[in-house]
Amino acid sequence: MSFASFDLHPLLLANIESLGYQTPTPIQTEAIPPVMEGRDAMGLAQTGTGKTAAFLLPILNRLARREIPKRRAVKALIVAPTRELAEQIHDAVRDLGRRVNVKSVTVYGGVGMSPQTQALRRGVDIVVACPGRLLDHIRQGNTDFSALDTLVLDEADHMFDMGFLPDIRAIMDKLPAKRQTLLFSATMPDSIKKLAADILTDPITVRIGRQAPAETVEHAVYPVSPSRKTPLLLELLDKAKTDSVIVFTRTKHKAKNLAELLCKSGRRAACIQGNLSQRQRQAALDGFKAGTYRVLVATDIAARGIDVSKVGHVINFDIPDTPDAYTHRIGRTGRAECQGQAHTLITREDMPMVRAIEHAMGKPLPRRELDGFAPTPQEYRAEPDAPRDGYNRNRRPGNGGGYGRNFGQSRPAGQNRNTRQAPRREAHA
Ligand code: AMP
Repeated sequence: MSFASFDLHPLLLANIESLGYQTPTPIQTEAIPPVMEGRDAMGLAQTGTGKTAAFLLPILNRLARREIPKRRAVKALIVAPTRELAEQIHDAVRDLGRRVNVKSVTVYGGVGMSPQTQALRRGVDIVVACPGRLLDHIRQGNTDFSALDTLVLDEADHMFDMGFLPDIRAIMDKLPAKRQTLLFSATMPDSIKKLAADILTDPITVRIGRQAPAETVEHAVYPVSPSRKTPLLLELLDKAKTDSVIVFTRTKHKAKNLAELLCKSGRRAACIQGNLSQRQRQAALDGFKAGTYRVLVATDIAARGIDVSKVGHVINFDIPDTPDAYTHRIGRTGRAECQGQAHTLITREDMPMVRAIEHAMGKPLPRRELDGFAPTPQEYRAEPDAPRDGYNRNRRPGNGGGYGRNFGQSRPAGQNRNTRQAPRREAHA
């Protein structure tokens, strides 16, 4: 299968070639033909699968084949949960739509409203927007969606998690009922199934990767005592043979402090977290993409959808809160057929989540130790009959008990399982 077989406009084929894409990814192969025909689609795919081009190419193809109107009217609306993802989609419109004479605008909060208002009023073909700010523009009468052909909802599960569903429904009320709708989501909870049933008409469903991280990613977990996490991170960073590493932390403060510590120790690092202005986030991201920074320290929400194709390593300084979040974090490495490494620092408290992730992935996360960093015998007790790969298929996530290097059963003296507190989780991003 080649891009030429899609009957795309020659300018788009030329742009695809300049970007170095040789063959369509599986989601592109499956989704592009029916979406070009105008079908609604439900795409179950995580970032890194090439889903952005899968929905943009049919949109751009229609725009490339039309006559340029005297006054542009919005033909496609793409709604995304975060500003970073919106900017990334906008970049893809620019790259895939070069020389096609397409105008697009990004619309999100945290920056001035008037440049967006002016761009919307001057006339654009594509709007890439986060729900809250878009709704503000709609309410102020700055938008006209009467000529809209296509609505894309990207990372719908995240939009739901972030509480955007009422905004999305309010936005959809203002769009023409007769339109093509494309819904992308990495996971399919009931909320998204219901949304899909409500808004899609006779959709094709494309399921890619079965919500598992890309197969090109090598996973490893590093048992460590909480007080040794930072030295272990430094050691892993210094050993990593890659020019780009994303480090994930649970909290904004930790992201900020770690990035500062890395800079002070002479490493090229920046952080991206919710307390930064949009300009600061963009500067960090641009610097990371350009190679000025080797390490980007990020929280989950701030990092959502970040597309940095050549991220060699993802290091989870703090384990994520859910298996889905693990998949999303790891989606930043091993993208588009590059090899990636996913390292997770784990303390005894993290064992239930390690099991939940292993259960979701259907395979073990191999344990690794670096000399001098393994937890002390008090911090874990080896289980002699555990399988060598550390994975016991009879165990279910969260059922207590351990396997492999069994952190789960070793508790500080005086603490019993019933009184043990769950580790405190602070708000993200
Ligand atoms: P996405 O899943 O849309 O975030 O895309 C992940 C990365 O894959 C982006 O950096 C794209 O530029 C890249 N990409 C998309 N399609 C292809 C392709 N057919 N071949 C190679 N890289 C691609």
